[in-house]
Amino acid sequence: MADMTAGKKTETACRICGLDNGEVLFDEYGVPQYVICECCHNESGIGDDTLTQVRELRGYWVGHGAQWHDPKRKPVDWDLLQQIGNLPPEWR
Ligand SMILES: [Zn+2]
Repeated sequence: MADMTAGKKTETACRICGLDNGEVLFDEYGVPQYVICECCHNESGIGDDTLTQVRELRGYWVGHGAQWHDPKRKPVDWDLLQQIGNLPPEWR
């Protein structure tokens, strides 16, 4: 999970879709770990380093029905809006 070091913290929530399974997507220095999101299929560090890009990717993803890349991983009680609530404030 996110660990706090001198005010900096790792990012575990996907900037695009908000999925947070505890995996580190950006380390405490903001360096992307190139982890592919199993929900929206974005890779951390690829096309998600500006708010404009993030919003564009998110809009595209939601516009296509907010599909899970791997539907088997989708929880039965999955709630899009609840997951969106995980988005880091600076990436909303
Ligand atoms: Zn995602």
